Amino acid sequence: MPFDEPIMMTEAGFPYIPAGAHFTDRGTPYLTEAGVAMIARSSVDLSAADGFLGGFGPDLGFGGYLADPDVLPEPERLVKFLGQACYLSLGAGRTPNAEAGRYLDNLKRSGHGSVYEHPVFTLFFWGIDRSVTHELVRHRAGFGFSQVSQRYVDGTRLRFVERPEYQEDGLGPDAPPTLRDAVRDLHLGFLGEIDGAFATYEAKAASLIAAKELGHPMLAADARTEARKQVNQVAREGLPNCTEAPIGVTGNARAWRHAIEMRANAAADVPIRLAMLKAYRLLRMVAPLLFGDYEVVPLPSSRTAAVQTPNRKI
Ligand SMILES: Cc1cc2nc3c(=O)[nH]c(=O)nc-3n(C[C@H](O)[C@H](O)[C@H](O)COP(=O)(O)OP(=O)(O)OC[C@H]3O[C@@H](n4cnc5c(N)ncnc54)[C@H](O)[C@@H]3O)c2cc1C
Repeated sequence: MPFDEPIMMTEAGFPYIPAGAHFTDRGTPYLTEAGVAMIARSSVDLSAADGFLGGFGPDLGFGGYLADPDVLPEPERLVKFLGQACYLSLGAGRTPNAEAGRYLDNLKRSGHGSVYEHPVFTLFFWGIDRSVTHELVRHRAGFGFSQVSQRYVDGTRLRFVERPEYQEDGLGPDAPPTLRDAVRDLHLGFLGEIDGAFATYEAKAASLIAAKELGHPMLAADARTEARKQVNQVAREGLPNCTEAPIGVTGNARAWRHAIEMRANAAADVPIRLAMLKAYRLLRMVAPLLFGDYEVVPLPSSRTAAVQTPNRKI
């Protein structure tokens, strides 16, 4: 199944699902799936709030808050503390960490999702193309993006992404030979297309450099990086949608939840659905109580899956 790839873990405890490059016979690199890596997340130390907790009367028992024997993952620790701080419900009668799942689910159910905005997670995506990143950057609330430049990057860094529909692996064991042949043709067509795109790019870049040396006024620049940019930004204009566009996405838990619900969804296009399923799996691994209400539902017709939750758009 394309949505149960093993999750790897760095020594520091950051999960990732890698994806490697393939090469056409002519050496053009391409990827067949998204790689997703969690490269940063909120670090939490509530002991710094001890001075606040200890400043109330001993009868309230706030001083015992940090002594709760059940230790939550950092994102959950943060959301629960700030949620309970809203009502100053920090004493003996508070929901203990052992029941954090119930507490956090209550927040989801009641639509008090703003508390979920505190923990942030940065995911780096590669093996996705420009159509996927164009869809990702439509999510405005609670997200920050850093995406490969369409101006500075030259042809030595060009890679392409093959759509799942062109991949025989995605067909399953029962696919008839005629369908396999058709998909093989789509795959070969893709390889030809990206070899052609790369060659066109190189030829165009060479022509632009020639025009620049002949004194084209719009390609003239003193600084070396400016000159390179002026050639690259024009040469990239003809590249297809399937050009790889690595992107770093930082979002808070509430924003990630909404984007996952919209994109790891049966109505979404397959490449973004598969990439966001991976994103969801990484997020759930580090914040099981914030993302644990989702169910991954197989979509047999497309051999993919979608997530479902009773708590949409908290
Ligand atoms: C299957 C699918 C098909 C799509 N097709 C198209 C298409 O054909 N054309 C197209 O242009 N887009 C399309 N989109 C993109 C879609 O319209 C949204 O732009 C995108 O999903 C971002 O989601 P969002 O609007 O909820 O905003 P987000 O930025 O993710 O914001 C989250 C929430 O914050 C609130 N919010 C954010 N910004 C504002 C604001 N300025 N004012 C008020 N409230 C705000 C809203 O409640 C919003 O839902 C499609 C999306 C999907 C999933």
